[in-house]
Amino acid sequence: MGQTLTEKVLDDHLVDGELETGEEIGIEIDQVLTQDTTGTMVWLQFEAMGLDEVQTEIAAQYCDHQTYQFDFKNTDDHRFLRSAAGKYGAYFSRPGNGICHNVHRENFAAPGKTLLGSDSHTPTPGGLGQLAIGAGGIDVTVAMGGAPYYIEMPEIVNVRLEGELPEWATAKDVILELLRRLSVKGGVGKILEYTGPGVESLTAPERMTITNMGTELGATSSIFPTDEQTEDYLERVGRGDEYVELQPDEDAEYDDEIVVDLSELEPLIAQPSMPDNVVPVREVAGQDVDQVIVGSCTNGGYEDILPAAKMLEDREVNPTTEMIVAPGSKQASEMLAREGWVAEMMAAGVNFSEATCGACIGIGHVPASDSVSLRTFNRNFEGRSGIEDDNVFLCSPEVAAAAAIKGEIVDPRDLADELGDLEDPGIELPDEYDGSKTDLITPDEAPDDELVKGPNIGDVPLRDELGSDIEGDALLKMEDNITTDHIIPATQDILMYRSNIEKLSEFTLSRVDDTFAERAKEADGGVLVAGENYGQGSSREHAAMCPMYLGIEAVLAQSFARIHRANLFNFGIVPLTIDEETYEDIDQGDEVEIVDDVYDAVTSGQEEFTVRVGDEEYTATLDASERERDILAAGGKLAWTKEQAEESGS
Ligand code: SF4
Repeated sequence: MGQTLTEKVLDDHLVDGELETGEEIGIEIDQVLTQDTTGTMVWLQFEAMGLDEVQTEIAAQYCDHQTYQFDFKNTDDHRFLRSAAGKYGAYFSRPGNGICHNVHRENFAAPGKTLLGSDSHTPTPGGLGQLAIGAGGIDVTVAMGGAPYYIEMPEIVNVRLEGELPEWATAKDVILELLRRLSVKGGVGKILEYTGPGVESLTAPERMTITNMGTELGATSSIFPTDEQTEDYLERVGRGDEYVELQPDEDAEYDDEIVVDLSELEPLIAQPSMPDNVVPVREVAGQDVDQVIVGSCTNGGYEDILPAAKMLEDREVNPTTEMIVAPGSKQASEMLAREGWVAEMMAAGVNFSEATCGACIGIGHVPASDSVSLRTFNRNFEGRSGIEDDNVFLCSPEVAAAAAIKGEIVDPRDLADELGDLEDPGIELPDEYDGSKTDLITPDEAPDDELVKGPNIGDVPLRDELGSDIEGDALLKMEDNITTDHIIPATQDILMYRSNIEKLSEFTLSRVDDTFAERAKEADGGVLVAGENYGQGSSREHAAMCPMYLGIEAVLAQSFARIHRANLFNFGIVPLTIDEETYEDIDQGDEVEIVDDVYDAVTSGQEEFTVRVGDEEYTATLDASERERDILAAGGKLAWTKEQAEESGS
């Protein structure tokens, strides 16, 4: 039987296990990336493990999430990250140089290579045929130290693209259509592999918009085959020699197939406050729009901003609307500036901003209360913009620019009819991506060789070996789809403590219940209860590290998001799956006891655990590999990795 493209790349990197769906496999990692939110812990853990040099072909540290300097804390973090990159041998991308995924695709992403990143949108270069996976920081630390990355072999889904996009429909609409059909849970445990005759009509940057947002489907990764479009893009970024042809075998078998006829797509929009709440733009047209933002790792490339700039040429942003453009990389900004497009946009009334994540996580450009914000981003979880009562819609740059011109949500086809002289700008790639790369410091050029830690940089928290008893109150009962933004928000006032777990933990789950952290600390032990898809969203390991620091020993949920589930193991918290009836029966404040000897049960491979709540007993399931059980037993991945190193004498 032939192989899928995913299987071919995995096979090339396989060091442990077999490519059978559901089996745990270990793969070699060629490249790693990390960013400033997750990066400080990555390097502190690298130091705590006693590692002394990066072992992967490429390791890159980006500063993109929080680039503004409000006081010394953030600047200290950046200085520490630069020193760690210099000391251990990673590339360092300075604040202002751009968003990790954009800068990585410009400089390092390569077909056939594996990439592990401590950011959930790491799968972005899947559009170039790279197998890229998001993971918790400590997984990246360990991979960077040269160890394999372990993962349950996902199902491989064939997303067959047919036809070509009609006027005004874009790559963003392809992924919004998939979210509309499959929901934010539709890709869990799966790698989406794109095939079919529609693939060749999409440029590499368009493909990367689609693979970027595979994360919103919950997918482990998304990947396109390589072809002339891939080679063309790599040549334009000056790395044509890194092209390799990658196609699935003709007789490859997939676990499932989805067909999308591109020619049937139209401009779509995700309504507040979930990326899968998708409808045609025409269904919500006419609503006043207060703010429009074009940018982010999804649609912040030169090719994304240029269409919006063209639509604004000789036009003006509606006086009732504020439009912000924040490119994904400084290279995109520079190119747009050199070609005069920045001046054109500014003349139209655009507020042109720094290349940063910023507004995507509520740092800057927070919308006015009870207002409508249209963004070309990938997420619109409630409160992520920086205020709780936000109304954030997600759309393509073309729909965003149309709204900025009209001052209300409008299908660009209807605006074109109304204005008479507005044409679909289409996608245009530059002859050469020639923005300067001066803000990327190579390991050879690194100015530092010692770690520099400011006073806000704390120690890595550790948990003791797993004990025999788990007993305590259900300290918090939560609903479905709790995101990592709920657990540890990434807004400026909180994010500045990302390297100081003692302080950061005070904000744990404060968006759900602002008494939680204090109650958890007092209780010194206890469990969390949640519905479906607990921990969806970012790869932020702080969302497991802070509950661990507060003494949480287990999470009982109906289901877990992939990266967060791995993070719970990595920080010694037992993730137990419960059914709906059990979920309904447990109330916040109930005393919960795991009846089994937890250490023995975890290490012996026991799957079913008895949970006593008051007088009732229920069954909870621990679905975990032997390696995951060992990590739990050791008290987390840091302790386990050290144990492994001691045993092997390395
Ligand atoms: Fe940055 Fe937002 Fe992309 Fe995350 S999703 S990398 S915060 S732009």
